[in-house]
Amino acid sequence: MKKTCKIPGFGGFLMLLIPLLFSSTGFSQDVSITPLPDPASGIRDQASGTGQPGFHPGNWVLVIHGGAGGPPQGSMSEEQEQAYKDKLNEALAVGTGILEKGGSSMEAVEAVVMFMEDCPLFNAGKGAVYNDEGYAEMDASIMDGSTLMAGAVTGVTTIRHPVSAARLVMTETRHVLLMCEGADLFAQAQGLEMVDRSYFQTPARTKQYERMKEQQRSKSDTIKEKKDSRPDTVSMKDDNTKGTVGAVALDNMGNLAAATSTGGLMMKMKGRIGDTPIIGAGTYANNATCAVSCTGTGEYFMRNVIAYDVSALMEYRDWSLEEATNYLIRDKLKSQGGGGGLIAVDKDGNIAMPFNTNAMFRGYAKAKEGAVVEIYP
Ligand code: ASP
Repeated sequence: MKKTCKIPGFGGFLMLLIPLLFSSTGFSQDVSITPLPDPASGIRDQASGTGQPGFHPGNWVLVIHGGAGGPPQGSMSEEQEQAYKDKLNEALAVGTGILEKGGSSMEAVEAVVMFMEDCPLFNAGKGAVYNDEGYAEMDASIMDGSTLMAGAVTGVTTIRHPVSAARLVMTETRHVLLMCEGADLFAQAQGLEMVDRSYFQTPARTKQYERMKEQQRSKSDTIKEKKDSRPDTVSMKDDNTKGTVGAVALDNMGNLAAATSTGGLMMKMKGRIGDTPIIGAGTYANNATCAVSCTGTGEYFMRNVIAYDVSALMEYRDWSLEEATNYLIRDKLKSQGGGGGLIAVDKDGNIAMPFNTNAMFRGYAKAKEGAVVEIYP
C-alpha cells in the first residue's frame, strides 16, 4: 500500500500542536504533573526579609558551640582546655572572614560547621561518636532565616561534611530531610567529598566506645539496668560525649542562619535520630525573630521543640531572646532532666548561650569586637 502524506485539518492541527506545546515545557510524557510552586514563595513574606528594623548594616554577629555536657571545671587539663579554645577561635575566624567581607550568614554558618566537622575534638564529622554497632551515623541541618527554607540529613556514614549535604538538600531538592543511604547517595551525586566510614574514627572515640560497650555488657541483666542504658541517660554522664557543633549568624544584610552537625550520642541505637536534623528541634532560623542551634540530649529537645519554641516565644509572647532561651534551657528542660544548651542570635544582634550542664564549648564574634570563647559557666 502506498503511504500518503495528509495535511491535517483544524482538529488534527490541534492534536499536533498540544503535544508540541507541552514538550517545550518538559511535560510531554505526563501532562498530569503540575509544576511545583517555588517552595519559598508563600513563606517569604512571613520572614521579614532583609534589613531588619533596629538592625544596623555592618553589625554582623556570629555565635558557635562545640557541644554541651562534660565534666565539671578542673577535670580537663589546661592543655586540653586550650586545645578546645584554640579550635573555637579558629572556627570563629573562619566565619568572621566571611561575614566581614559581606558574605551571607548561610555561607558563614556552613563554613564554620565544615571546619568543626574536620576537627577530631568535636562530635561531628571526623571524631563523631559511634552507634552501638561501632560506627558513626551522623546528622546535620541548616536553615535560612530570610526564606524559611531548610535542609537536613540523618544517619549518613560516608559524607565528609554532612552540613554541606544538608545545604544541598535545601537548595537542590524539594525536600527538607534525607536519611541514611539515600542521603549518602544524594551527596555523592552532588559531587560532595565521600569517605570511608573509618575516616570518622579516632583512637579516642574507639577507646570510649570500647569502655562503654564493656559497661553495657556488664550491666545488661536487670530491667533497671536496661533502662539506665537508654541513650538519654548515658549521654550526659559520659564526659566525652559532648561535642556536637553549631553556628548561628546575622550578616551585614540582616539575614539570620543556623546550622548544626553531630554524631549524636555515643552508643545510641543504630538508626536513632536526635534533634540535630529535626528543623525546629535542634535548628531554627527566622529573620523575624532569631537563629538557634541546640546541643544536648536530643530526645528532650525534640519533645520540647526547643529551637522553634525560642522563636515562638519571641514572636507570640514578645519575650526577649534572653528571656526565651533562659526559660527553655534553665527552667523547662532542666526540670525535666534534659541536659544541654543552645546558642542564639536575634534579628537585632543580641546573643544568648545558656546551658544547664557543667560546660558548653562556645564563643562569639561581632563586627568591630574581638572574639570570645568560653567553656564553663
Ligand atoms: N543533640 C545531639 C543528639 O542528641 C547530641 C549533642 O548535642 O550532644 O543527637
